[in-house]
Amino acid sequence: MRPARFLSPRLLTGLLALALTASAVVLVAEPVAAKHPRLPHHYGATIEPLAGYEPQRRCSPQAKPGTTAFANLLLRTYRSTRSLGISRACSVGGTSEHKEGRAFDWAVSANSAADRRRVQNLMRWLLQTDRHGNAFAMARRIGIQYMIWNRRIWGAYSADSGWRPYTGSNPHTDHVHFSFSWRGARKNSSFWQGEGRNGRPSLSAADGTRSVRAHPSSDTYDLHDSPDLHDSPDLHDSHGSDIAPTRVPDGVLLDSRTVAQRLGGTWTAGDRRAVGCPTAAHVDASVVHRTSVVAEGGSSVRQTVAAFASAAAADRAVDDARDRLVGCGWSVLDPRVGSAAVQGVAPDGTQRVLVAATEGVTVTLVGSGGRPADRREWAGLADLALGSACGASAHGCH
Ligand SMILES: [Zn+2]
Repeated sequence: MRPARFLSPRLLTGLLALALTASAVVLVAEPVAAKHPRLPHHYGATIEPLAGYEPQRRCSPQAKPGTTAFANLLLRTYRSTRSLGISRACSVGGTSEHKEGRAFDWAVSANSAADRRRVQNLMRWLLQTDRHGNAFAMARRIGIQYMIWNRRIWGAYSADSGWRPYTGSNPHTDHVHFSFSWRGARKNSSFWQGEGRNGRPSLSAADGTRSVRAHPSSDTYDLHDSPDLHDSPDLHDSHGSDIAPTRVPDGVLLDSRTVAQRLGGTWTAGDRRAVGCPTAAHVDASVVHRTSVVAEGGSSVRQTVAAFASAAAADRAVDDARDRLVGCGWSVLDPRVGSAAVQGVAPDGTQRVLVAATEGVTVTLVGSGGRPADRREWAGLADLALGSACGASAHGCH
């Protein structure tokens, strides 16, 4: 992979101009400007067509392997960025690929020049024509269905229209939303699998006119265009309300069944006695909040979802929680989740806490003993808790 291939013509012109001034070359050669993900394979001319629109039909929120792989790819490539989650609980209203584990919210800020540059680099990499003349090559190989960023939407089913205005009430200025085709979400696309080797499906012609032969083990290779559905993501993402929430719906709280699915075991409703340092004092400034506790043997998971009047108020609550944890002598870790988030571990290692804000809502998750202390199990649970909390936001989150 030669990075130079990914430099824009304008940047190349600048590079040539500055190369004449030897002292400036070092500055220009700084690689951050054109950073893009590593390719897992080398690709030839064979490629699948653009994804059609496959809306959410059933609900299976567990993150799908292609979605997770893409999320990890971005977090590895752009190390200062974070995840706002993949999964969303079935009980949350609205249609969203998050509920099928095939959407990823990448936390980057439209107010940050560095983040805007990261997104621009990534988008150029996803949408550029490859050396074989395949338009939108990486988006096709990955199986991107649509993306929303900073008041604009790009849909594979409407690729020739480019980035169109996006008018959903959530402007997507604190994250990029990526939805994936089922093929991409299942990690069956050529980006992950390479082209046509080892009995994998042979892929279509570069012009996208031929469909893909289904792999016997995959039930959905629905790659034809669905132009009549092309506005649906815009519609289902219109949340339509600017009013602060007045209640926290039932579905946003993890129940014993959901926790059992994630952690195994038999969980039941637990008692709400105080949990020491990570007590939910930081939610006192919220409009409304609710807490649920589930327990199994010596383990418990306690979740508080609080809805605030503004995103800034929710972010301040996270700062308050961080101050409190530090004051109690807890270790505060890089959470790798949420644009405003803190994660802490008790001095004796028996408790973990995550406090994250998204769309004016905070989620506080406290895990005690046993399984919640396992880092991987805990991360999965936190992802689910964050996704479900969107239902408490006046805007929802996409
Ligand atoms: Zn989203």
